[in-house]
Amino acid sequence: MSIPLPRLIVLASRILTREGILDSFGHVSARNPERPDRFFLSRARAAGLVDEADILELDLTGAPVTETPHRLFAERVIHAAIYTARPDVQAVCHHHAPQMLPFCNAGIELVPVFHLGATMGPKVPFWDSRDEFGDTNLLVSTPEQGASMAKALGPNWTLLLRRHGVTTAGRSVPELVFRTIYGSRNAEAQLATMQIGTISPLTPGEAALAEEFNLKPIALDRAWEQWQRGVESA
Ligand code: MN
Repeated sequence: MSIPLPRLIVLASRILTREGILDSFGHVSARNPERPDRFFLSRARAAGLVDEADILELDLTGAPVTETPHRLFAERVIHAAIYTARPDVQAVCHHHAPQMLPFCNAGIELVPVFHLGATMGPKVPFWDSRDEFGDTNLLVSTPEQGASMAKALGPNWTLLLRRHGVTTAGRSVPELVFRTIYGSRNAEAQLATMQIGTISPLTPGEAALAEEFNLKPIALDRAWEQWQRGVESA
């Protein structure tokens, strides 16, 4: 897939908007492979409206590399902190998907309940801003908050922020989108299952095998082609 990174970020933003995961809030970024200490993120704008011209390059403090008159996302430190803590991560999304919010609020653990859901990662930890920062406006907006959140993510791919939303990571933009969409669908399936019975999660072995398989081109490329076509023909 040889799509330039700014275009990939635009596509991912529109795909995740179409899925109901991003709305006026939430954002997608990608690390600059030429400069691993920099990443691309749009100016503060709703994801469904983001275009290539909105994409800015930021450093790992969250500062724009080139001066800009545009407003920046308050939560850009989320991206900076994860790229700092996780050299293997190439793309990050922060969102407030309604499918995930019941778990963020109740503090009930998300577990893989079907094979595609395993791509959210076998373990989905929590981060609670109250633990270290007490009363805040809930936004992750200081470097200290970003670092604390990235530490809670640890080696995992999906993190639930109590009473706030979700941060997801991937080794590429399409992988990030796959993990984000199927993490949300897993949340829907888990919640629906809990209403009619008892959840039966994948075993750790099943989750690892399913995660590995579904992120291979045979599954990932098929999904991405359809998602891309969906936003390009819209
Ligand atoms: Mn947020």
